[in-house]
Amino acid sequence: MSEVRVRFAPSPTGPLHIGGVRTALYNYLFAKNKGGKMILRIEDTDQARFVEGAEKYIIDSLKWCGIEFDESVIVGGDFGPYKQSERKEMYLPYAEQLVKDGFAYYAFDTSEGLTAMRERMKEAGVPSPQYNAVTRTTMQNSLALSEDEVNKRMQDGDSYVIRIKMPRNEEVKLNDIIRGWVVVNTNNMDDKVIFKSDGMPTYHLANVVDDYTMKISHVIRGEEWLPSAPLHVLLYRYLGWEDKIPEFAHLPLILKPDGNGKLSKRDGDRLGFPVFPTQWTNPETGDVSSGYRESGYISDAFINMLSFLGWNPGTTQEIFSMEGLIEAFSLERVGKAGAKFDFDKTRWFNQQYLRAKTKEELSQDLQVILKENGVEAEDDFVATVCEQLKERATFIKDMWEEGKYYFSAPTSYDEKTIRKKWKEDTPKYMTELKYRIEEISDFNSENIEKEFKSYLEENELGMGKLLPAFRVSLTGLGMGPSLFDIASLLGKEETIKRMETALEKIN
Ligand code: GLU
Repeated sequence: MSEVRVRFAPSPTGPLHIGGVRTALYNYLFAKNKGGKMILRIEDTDQARFVEGAEKYIIDSLKWCGIEFDESVIVGGDFGPYKQSERKEMYLPYAEQLVKDGFAYYAFDTSEGLTAMRERMKEAGVPSPQYNAVTRTTMQNSLALSEDEVNKRMQDGDSYVIRIKMPRNEEVKLNDIIRGWVVVNTNNMDDKVIFKSDGMPTYHLANVVDDYTMKISHVIRGEEWLPSAPLHVLLYRYLGWEDKIPEFAHLPLILKPDGNGKLSKRDGDRLGFPVFPTQWTNPETGDVSSGYRESGYISDAFINMLSFLGWNPGTTQEIFSMEGLIEAFSLERVGKAGAKFDFDKTRWFNQQYLRAKTKEELSQDLQVILKENGVEAEDDFVATVCEQLKERATFIKDMWEEGKYYFSAPTSYDEKTIRKKWKEDTPKYMTELKYRIEEISDFNSENIEKEFKSYLEENELGMGKLLPAFRVSLTGLGMGPSLFDIASLLGKEETIKRMETALEKIN
């Protein structure tokens, strides 16, 4: 097989939705699995939809995801430029060749002319009128007008587009790796504009010309492009490149969590989770949409989650590094059915990745948050905090939010715990317990627990009688990791101090 070359071809019309990231990811995994090349091509032929900052956003967010390109606007390559607006000059000759060969034609219709045609057809009972083999004969184009008229209009500088001349009643077939044979009759296709009056090709022509000239071997993209694929096949054929048609793989949709329809860009913050890899600020409105990065996700966990939205390894293994994904990935294991986005599962992946980190790694991450909050603490101390909180956290920031008491004494005490567990006799027991704790010479978790338990036993008290009061005194909370571990980390002096403060404040 010739070299595998795939491309991710976003349009810079806004931030990259997770569906787009998944398309990039599958392209990347496929290319790397095959020892091939991954190309980034910016498809910016639709100038009206251009959004400031979107291209940079796409590049930066894919970098955060760990998706790297062998050829792109940034790293260059032998098949550049990698931005369609910079390839502008390349497309017209192909469009004109199609006209010359009888596969396309010039059309001078104004928007009023097009609207009038649609109304006429609707009146005649055609529900969705199209510019096609039937209607084109009534329109202002080089097939319907005389040659002289066409030449005159050209000389007068009339504005025109180039449309593909869709043949009548032909079957266009393509073999999609994920969907199998897709067959469409040209009677159901219209004479799409392939070259616009502003001197730019449309997506269809630019996409095909670029895929061909960039020697793309596989087109892996979202299902929404499947209806365009037959037109692309025809363009390849008409341009004389039929033997170079890439293989197609149209990926399944990512659905909303309830399975009702496609997960859209607007869903994210509405449904309570990010739909963008990184935060996006709309340059026009200033509106901020949340991102996985800023929400505290580990990029590998985000990618691992995304890899499973449409693909599965055929085993029960769920945790895959990027390397592991590259090794395991195949398009044959990508399903046709839409994949439901599962936010709980996304959090679960993050938790797994968090747990897999060493306490030293976690401590480095937590130190960043501590610094932001003006807290100074020794690395060893922070590492132990991480170790104690690790099983309870989904995000590194949970360790700060749920573990503030490691860094400063509580300033308030959980009301519910006080109401239920701080009884009239509690101060007496807590005072006695404090004396016992003061006596511990080797102040470690085991010894604290032993002393605590023997005090309970001697007084015939159950755990539930004193542990919650002890916990709320040290942490202010009703729940948390092993209290003996916490006390041992805080040290004897601090433990005693907190017990005394609680005895003063609660009551
Ligand atoms: N520019 C298209 C998009 O924004 C690319 C579609 C394709 O991959 O052919 O999704």
